[in-house]
Amino acid sequence: MADVHSKEIRSYNMSRIRGKDTKPEIMVRKFLYAQGFRYRLHVKDLPGKPDIVLPKFKTVIFVHGCFWHSHYGCKKATLPKTRTEWWKAKISKNVEKDAASITRLIEAGWNVLIIWECELKSITSSDVLKDLSERIIRNKQL
Ligand SMILES: [Zn+2]
Repeated sequence: MADVHSKEIRSYNMSRIRGKDTKPEIMVRKFLYAQGFRYRLHVKDLPGKPDIVLPKFKTVIFVHGCFWHSHYGCKKATLPKTRTEWWKAKISKNVEKDAASITRLIEAGWNVLIIWECELKSITSSDVLKDLSERIIRNKQL
């Protein structure tokens, strides 16, 4: 009984740990900071513990990993070929949780913006970030 965790669970746990302060998230944070936005991080008392919270704009941002949050139609969201059912159950739980959190945030009057990991890796990432800041500012004007 040296190791009760299967390889899958172990790598899942590791990814969960890596999930905080991920590269895409830091990229978004750096961009926003440079644009003059000020924010709070991983706010525990909000549904879904949003990655970035901009209280002044009543806006939260989730920086989602494509695999863990099942980015629809994205290549990175493909399930592994082994233990597919196990993964499917795991990931759909995440997706359900995300949907519930987003609903609760919207009901509480928050604007919810989602950035996908793959959007930041493509050559259009600067457009994605520019669009993000425009959406934040627009929220305040509404
Ligand atoms: Zn994606």
